[in-house]
Amino acid sequence: MLGGSNMPTEIADAALAEAVVAESAAMEDLLRQLVAAPTTLGNEEPGQELMREAFREAGLDPRDVPLDVEALRASPFSSPFSWDVSGKANVVADLPVAGEGGRSLVLHGHVDVVGPASERLWRTPPFEAVREGDWIYGRGAGDMKAGLVAIVGVARALRSLGLAPLAPVQLQSVVEEECTGNGALQCVLSSSFQPDAAVITEPFPGAITTSQIGVLWFHIDIAGTPVHVGEAGAGVNAIEAAFPIVAALHRLEAELNEAPPAPYDEITHPINLNIGVISGGDWPSTVAAECSFSCRIALYPGMTVADMKARVETTIARASAADSYLAKHPPVVRYDGFACEGITIPDDAPLVRTLSTAHERLTGAAAPTMATTATTDARAFVQHGIPAVCLGPHAEAIHGVNERVLWPSVIQTTQVLAFFIRDWCGLAQGLAQ
Ligand SMILES: [Zn+2]
Repeated sequence: MLGGSNMPTEIADAALAEAVVAESAAMEDLLRQLVAAPTTLGNEEPGQELMREAFREAGLDPRDVPLDVEALRASPFSSPFSWDVSGKANVVADLPVAGEGGRSLVLHGHVDVVGPASERLWRTPPFEAVREGDWIYGRGAGDMKAGLVAIVGVARALRSLGLAPLAPVQLQSVVEEECTGNGALQCVLSSSFQPDAAVITEPFPGAITTSQIGVLWFHIDIAGTPVHVGEAGAGVNAIEAAFPIVAALHRLEAELNEAPPAPYDEITHPINLNIGVISGGDWPSTVAAECSFSCRIALYPGMTVADMKARVETTIARASAADSYLAKHPPVVRYDGFACEGITIPDDAPLVRTLSTAHERLTGAAAPTMATTATTDARAFVQHGIPAVCLGPHAEAIHGVNERVLWPSVIQTTQVLAFFIRDWCGLAQGLAQ
């Protein structure tokens, strides 16, 4: 049964699209405020406070879903974390319901952002929204504060028309997407609400994600033997001891890219290893005593985290065995942060077809399905039996410098959400305007 067939359709697309456009100024203002809140790991709360206020201004009654360490650690789907999450909360808000008979929905986004990578390389201050023509620059503008703005925008537009869905629709602004996905997981664990679908407005423009890789973060500690550089032969440099380990990990990456399973066989180099952070040594004239580095590698859907850990550990053990020092002083591998599997949903799932049709009615082009080489919070829903996909604004340079989002695509995403809610949930007059 395709969405919309048994739903009232008298609410015209044009009325929905215009109501979204009427919210444009308020939406842009919210994006500016959100970008100005540097919601990196541990600093999410000012962003969540803005989201509470934005939900209230949309006529909703937001509530917190606090992170619960015990519940998260008890879940087989959580990722390990060494940092303090006490006081952290997701913020959720339910749209009013105007009747029954529709399908329920979660609209979801994350408020946390990665760091600016290098402030010096930005043309504009990273935590200030700067508009140039149709582009808005700023860290998180695309990934994914514009997506949160679209979720708020659709709530505002429906309210302005006095419309409400015929099934529960919950809006979610979560933390910890960029490090574990435990924010989204907490939303699923904390609620008895089992929505019929979830749409995440990550910046995937014009295409619907139905497959995503898993991600494993691992951290390697190497101990050397510090001596004065004048007698370097008596010591072991921990930084240089890391080089053969990094080289071996890149050989593992190459092996993983040799024969990708579908749909990743259509992507050049789907599995990426990143050495994202390294630290070591404390003096130019002292042979480095310690070196630690942090890595990210991807897993194909169907591969378990345990499988990937075994591949990583075997790779490190073999490279160490070939080195006279590391053979006796093997590197220590730690896991902290992402440890999650890939997911896939059917390309012809009703959610996918209905969302694609909504996109086509607005833009004239159906949204094809795609596989992504990144992980997203869609995982937490799919792992609990809830179909979930991403579709969102057009962004560039996410996680890079001069990140930006194309403003008309934010409006378009919001309009697609409005059409989709009408088709998926049904809409009826039911509210005082
Ligand atoms: Zn994101």
